[in-house]
Amino acid sequence: MKRPYNFSAGPATMPEAVLQQAAAEMLDWHGSGMGVMEMSHRGKEFISIYEQTEADLRELLAVPANFRILFMQGGALAENAIIPLNLARGGAADFVVTGSWGQKSYQEAGKFCNARLAASTQGNGFTTLPDPASWQLGADSAYVHICSNETIHGVEFHQLPDLKALGCDAPLVVDFSSNVASRPVDWSRVGLAFGGAQKNLGPAGLTLVIVRDDLLGHAVPQCPSAFDYKLVAEAGSMYNTPPTYAIYMAGLVFQWLKAQGGVAAIEAANIAKAQSFYDYLDGSQLYENRVAKDCRSRMNIPFFLRDESRNDAFLAGAKAAGLLQLKGHKSVGGMRASLYNAMPIEGVQALVAYMQEFERTQA
Ligand code: PMP
Repeated sequence: MKRPYNFSAGPATMPEAVLQQAAAEMLDWHGSGMGVMEMSHRGKEFISIYEQTEADLRELLAVPANFRILFMQGGALAENAIIPLNLARGGAADFVVTGSWGQKSYQEAGKFCNARLAASTQGNGFTTLPDPASWQLGADSAYVHICSNETIHGVEFHQLPDLKALGCDAPLVVDFSSNVASRPVDWSRVGLAFGGAQKNLGPAGLTLVIVRDDLLGHAVPQCPSAFDYKLVAEAGSMYNTPPTYAIYMAGLVFQWLKAQGGVAAIEAANIAKAQSFYDYLDGSQLYENRVAKDCRSRMNIPFFLRDESRNDAFLAGAKAAGLLQLKGHKSVGGMRASLYNAMPIEGVQALVAYMQEFERTQA
């Protein structure tokens, strides 16, 4: 059976081979007589899954030894509170707002620290990225927050900012929920990176935090213990019961990613997928993407029909053609195609073929 192509922004399409393997192992994982959901998180079976998952992620993302990998819960939105509780020490932090998710981080952090707006592109509808040289960074900043890929607005940092070159010693905090594992990370520029798993890593319910050693141990006293990075790190992400099944699924995704040739190979595939889709949009009379070319996301591509009265017909036809979840986020409207790691180039080709046909026959 050929499954439809699923362009959801998240929870998102998974590699089919991963779903098949999980199905095959559902009742009995490796002859243990148990499914993964039924295992104690402290038993040797799950510990082996956990250790392999962490090691594979460290290898895939080339995470340096002085960074800890934490598997947490609460999603990226909970991290918007957890990060200031751990890093801000009641002081100030600077936020670069390039879309809805950065905006949410900025607003939430304001409950826990003095959150300051270092830059924002709201004025142009979040269609560009602000030049780092223009960011207002305080000398007393505990951290500087960016969202490396804005899932709703479709803008992506193609290079992480070098804060040191800007004269800022604060650690960079990166929300990489929607482009994690789609490209390499320059860890020399990062203090902490975090994201929900439900786009490129696996199912919802798992939150990934990768944090530099020296940023542990500074949580304010009222920080919930289960969200204190130092305690979580010391307990090997088992301070409380971790999301075991989601970790297992992420582990299968990491093995799949390694089999694809790792992050460099998947990045090349992601570039090719995004390029072919943007090329088509830019050449079309019917569709348009409004993001400045040098800031366009490879992962999430919002686009609009120039005649919006055709939106419903477009979506109905897409569904009939086996192309699912293309409706844009309600705050932006239009359409959005998410081209995460697990979306094959054939899915993009099928989408473009459908859009060409729609343009030819229905516009
Ligand atoms: N940040 C980004 C960039 C996201 O895309 C999302 C989810 N779409 C979030 C934060 C919120 O994540 P969660 O729902 O896992 O809390």
